[in-house]
Amino acid sequence: MATSLLRVPPPQELLRPLAVPERLLLGPGPSNVPSRIQAAGGRQLLGHMHPEVLQVMDEIKAGTQYAFQTQNRLTLAISGSGHCAMEAALFNLLEPGDAVLVAINGIWGQRAADIARRLGMLGAARGHGRAEGTGLEGRTPRFAVPGLVQHKPLVLFITHGESSTGVLQPLEGLGELCHRHGCLLLVDAVASLGGAPIFMDQQEIDVLYSGSQKVLNAPPGSAPISFSERAREKLLKRKTKPPSFYLDMGWLANYWGCDGEPRRYHHTAPINSFFSLREGLAVLAELGLESSWERHRAVCTQLCQGLLDLGLELFVKEEKARLPTITTVRVPEGYNWKDITAFLMDNHGIEIAGGLGPTVGKVLRIGLMGCNSTSANVERVLRALRDALNRCHRSRL
Ligand code: PMP
Repeated sequence: MATSLLRVPPPQELLRPLAVPERLLLGPGPSNVPSRIQAAGGRQLLGHMHPEVLQVMDEIKAGTQYAFQTQNRLTLAISGSGHCAMEAALFNLLEPGDAVLVAINGIWGQRAADIARRLGMLGAARGHGRAEGTGLEGRTPRFAVPGLVQHKPLVLFITHGESSTGVLQPLEGLGELCHRHGCLLLVDAVASLGGAPIFMDQQEIDVLYSGSQKVLNAPPGSAPISFSERAREKLLKRKTKPPSFYLDMGWLANYWGCDGEPRRYHHTAPINSFFSLREGLAVLAELGLESSWERHRAVCTQLCQGLLDLGLELFVKEEKARLPTITTVRVPEGYNWKDITAFLMDNHGIEIAGGLGPTVGKVLRIGLMGCNSTSANVERVLRALRDALNRCHRSRL
């Protein structure tokens, strides 16, 4: 027998069956994928330019227009996670020398500023409008005026649902204000879409994006995005090509049939992810946006009351400022947050998360999104938390 040339043997772990335990995902995302959406993703693969797949892409476009409340023709899904959509927005809107104003009210503003800086347009991140704190005071559109006046930015970035703090940013009047200053409004709705009202056209939002794995209950890996006519004009006026070929909206617009031209191959889309996203958008369309918003609000209220009844302190004091999809609660005194999250995972099969960015070590984050947004899940997570408070180590210092 010839001696094998292989120096790396087949990994033993791959010779065992795939292990995926049952878990209730009540962190800030991903949330659980219901069987209908899972089944859609498990359907047989088709060619990425087959008419049936192009039809699914058209359906995703229509579903996104509904979820975003927009008529924008440049509406599609990015083949990538929420970060990819964030990069697609910034890469396509900005050119070297353009300024962007970033409202930093948690980690997502920090990330947007980071991406803008990497674009090598230092002017890009030169102004930071701040909308900090956990209440609504200072969150009226006027917070942006000094930055708009001083930096004359081309784009203002803001996060609608700040998943690191659990704060919902009001958007009323912000688009209008930006437009008065010749600025485009870019909004991240990854954590809020379907869980809190947003009206892209009425609120004059120029670029809006979201993700698949939160309220839409699809696996991560595709991200709906839409550009207003104003934003589209900016894309058409670019003097330079966007720095990413993969995220070039000119190519993507063609691939998604948004430019009226015959569709050309750009990349091989994650077709099965699109099947799942289509189904997630279909579930939202069947339920109706208003019912979905109302359900998330009611379930969040029930959770907040239950947390208070356990003697815990909510991180966001003002009820109106709370993000209905993700609730932040202060780590109770004397406890290590990691003990609590590990206890819930090990003893109750429930994922909740610690803080992120500015809230690391300070809060626990509980997400109730899409199909996970139910009264029964509120009761389940409260029961598990009560158990954790009784049984996790508490320092008396
Ligand atoms: N923006 C917000 C508000 C988010 O909550 C997240 C995900 N936690 C993202 C952007 C990034 O999305 P992804 O992890 O899918 O890249």
